[in-house]
Amino acid sequence: MTVFRGPGRPTYAEIDLKALAFNYRQIQKRIPPGVGILGIVKADAYGHGAVPVARRLEELGSPYLGVAISDEGVELRKGGIKAPILVFSGVFPEDVHQSLKFDLTPVVFQEESLRLLSKAAGGRRKKLKVHLKVDTGMGRLGVRPESWGAFLTEVKRFPNVEVEGILSHFSMTDEEEVPYTVEQWGKFQEALAVAQGARVFPRYVHIASSANLAAFPSYSGNLVRPGIILYGAYPSLFTRQHLQIKPLMTLKTRVQYLKTVPAGTRVSYGGTFVTKRESLIATLSVGYADGYSRRLSNQGEVLIRGRRAPVIGRVCMDFIMVDVSDIPGVAMGDEVVLLGKQGKEQIPAEEIAQETGTIAYEVFCLIGKRVPRVYKG
Ligand SMILES: *Cc1c(COP(=O)(O)O)cnc(C)c1O
Repeated sequence: MTVFRGPGRPTYAEIDLKALAFNYRQIQKRIPPGVGILGIVKADAYGHGAVPVARRLEELGSPYLGVAISDEGVELRKGGIKAPILVFSGVFPEDVHQSLKFDLTPVVFQEESLRLLSKAAGGRRKKLKVHLKVDTGMGRLGVRPESWGAFLTEVKRFPNVEVEGILSHFSMTDEEEVPYTVEQWGKFQEALAVAQGARVFPRYVHIASSANLAAFPSYSGNLVRPGIILYGAYPSLFTRQHLQIKPLMTLKTRVQYLKTVPAGTRVSYGGTFVTKRESLIATLSVGYADGYSRRLSNQGEVLIRGRRAPVIGRVCMDFIMVDVSDIPGVAMGDEVVLLGKQGKEQIPAEEIAQETGTIAYEVFCLIGKRVPRVYKG
């Protein structure tokens, strides 16, 4: 394990790459043989650090990686990643040059993108691979099914563009939404049939992200696109029963300061917390600027000596205070876990998500740049 020798502040996120390998294999077990795992590493691998995560996914045999924007693809290439990289967000004119220079595969759903890409590729006497997106019910990016046939005909007019893949995106992650997912799958099959009719034969076909992978492993195509489950969190409650995974991230700090205060003491901005008894209060060097949400004010809990301590008063930009009166033996320098496991206790991302009115995805993405990532495994 890497020992953190940072600038002194003991706040960091430990990322367990063994857990990544474990989750990857759990996914492999769920999907039909011959289906590849396109590891989603957008948004700095959901806050886990894009390059180290991508490197491990490459070692695990991930045939493709996925990012949201072109700059994220460039970061991976500069970090030495060789695997093919798919860029989901569409083609912005400024990206065309980057796609070619760094060998990134854009997702395309507009004629204008084809024109730009084909022209740039032709100028370099290259063929550029693209994946075409059809909208089967997400209502975000992608060609509507009624325009899909015409779009495929258009694609054929651009000889420097090669269709390597066709994809869509499921929008429902909850058990109650099964019929909608079935409908989307049906529309995707129709779109593939239309492609075949138009003599477009992509090497890759893909639609499933984490939620569908857990619940509908047969709706896969020949690539699946897990994100959140690679990082060990569940896209929604009902997916838990289908898949056993391990979180990668533990957000840690140490007790920076301890003091005993009398009953009636106000704590933090606005004095929203008043001690009811003589209390032992620990100040921790982590705050909302690190991605520890201000909504956890008087709400959150942290782990010290394997036990839960409540956050008291408002979360500050750089600090929180916790009441450790009920935990015997707390000392300055004690390890504190804000997210993840300590001893037998655990604060999962899903718990923080619930307390802050969001989803685990956002909890991870909010962990700030100021928090060093330290890798183990
Ligand atoms: C983010 C994303 C995924 C991964 O979603 P998860 O729910 O994290 O598995 C898959 N496909 C596309 C197009 C995405 O944008």
